[in-house]
Amino acid sequence: MFDSLSDRLGGVFDRLRGRGALTEADVRTAMREVRVALLEADVALPVARDFVDKITEQAIGQNVLRSITPGQQVVKIVHDALVAMLGADASELLLDVTPPAVVMMVGLQGSGKTTTTAKIAKRLSSGAMGRERKKVLMASLDVNRPAAQEQLATLGTQVEVSTLPIITGQQPVEIARRALQAAKLQGYDVLMLDTAGRLHVDQALMDEMKAVAEIATPQEILLVVDSLTGQDAVNVATSFSEQVPLTGVVLTRMDGDARGGAALSMRAVTGKPIKFAGVGEKMDALEAFHPERVAGRILGMGDVVSLVERAAESIQQEDAERMAKKMAKGQFDMDDLRGQLQQMRRMGGLGALAGMMPGMKKAQNALADAGGDKILLRMDAIITSMTPKERAKPDLVNAKRKIRIAKGSGTTVQDVNKLLKMHQEMSTAMKKIKKMGGIKGMMAMLG
Ligand code: GDP
Repeated sequence: MFDSLSDRLGGVFDRLRGRGALTEADVRTAMREVRVALLEADVALPVARDFVDKITEQAIGQNVLRSITPGQQVVKIVHDALVAMLGADASELLLDVTPPAVVMMVGLQGSGKTTTTAKIAKRLSSGAMGRERKKVLMASLDVNRPAAQEQLATLGTQVEVSTLPIITGQQPVEIARRALQAAKLQGYDVLMLDTAGRLHVDQALMDEMKAVAEIATPQEILLVVDSLTGQDAVNVATSFSEQVPLTGVVLTRMDGDARGGAALSMRAVTGKPIKFAGVGEKMDALEAFHPERVAGRILGMGDVVSLVERAAESIQQEDAERMAKKMAKGQFDMDDLRGQLQQMRRMGGLGALAGMMPGMKKAQNALADAGGDKILLRMDAIITSMTPKERAKPDLVNAKRKIRIAKGSGTTVQDVNKLLKMHQEMSTAMKKIKKMGGIKGMMAMLG
């Protein structure tokens, strides 16, 4: 996600930060580069233009240029503007009504609507991230696509969420009414309605949605759009939001979207917040969309909170706590690195973690140079060949020991050096996290 934008902006800011003093011309040049980077990321033209105008005005303000760290200040301005562009006030699902709260899912066929319905249901019913577990019922109102209702039922079984029994021949509004009644009678907290999709926006679809919305009075109407369709996704969202009172957008296939244009211009163009990002086909591949964190990720400032959340989900709680404590102290030894490498493997390779942690990008690039995911196993072997003392204090490893360790692990001295370098990068990153004060939030979450 946002890889190329992140790289481009990183280059611009490195150049800015590399200078002690900045002139207005320096800033204007940088801002032009930011604009090109945004357009290359497929951000809508008016959005990119507005964005750059706003940040330029702020960045050439006298206080910024005269300050001791003008480069840093400019980055901060861009960060804050990015957060605003992504929708600073984005909120989670608002379901605090007398149950059942109704969540209606709308979108075009193939956008990932049914998958996302089940993902959200799973999230709500599992009490993800310490939230209260909800009793969720799902119902598919899609009578157009053969087997759509069965698809939702199958996903329901998979995520252990109930689905409304299928009665063949019923029309969407009737199904909605029946679902609502069942949810009320059987004491469900949340009812998720997966409406029919279409190949493109048409009036019959809109009318059907309006009729369903009237019956079900949903608290949330979420539009599911495919981020890979870029500006088309934004156009679809605009069409839908003119017809139904959307409360938010879910962008799917963010895992495959290197550019991120839809995510970046969605809020500005439609006025609707992105609430979730779909990041894979698996049922837990759904992330809450936090503009603050995403902006941080784009600017390579890292996204420690998402990282720890993801880690906490896939590793033992104790491990996470131990790690967090170590990080709080700014300590990070080879055993920790090994733990991290093992997690990376468990979490689906390096890709998932890339760019989420401050400084990780560098470490990751170093790793990619060294051969990518395959190298994880080799690194594990190298760490195993080190003595416990060396693992705790990698500085102890001298040239002679490097040769021994390489032999012992069936690798080369070069491999050993790469690992040591990576450890150094990561431990610097940990120190940065500590400085950012990010640890407090992390500890609270883990505690
Ligand atoms: P619907 O027609 O809108 O209900 O679309 P589906 O829910 O059936 O999804 C269509 C395809 O997209 C399925 O193969 C899903 O697994 C896939 N899909 C959905 N969301 C994501 C996502 O966030 N990432 C990826 N990679 N695939 C997704």
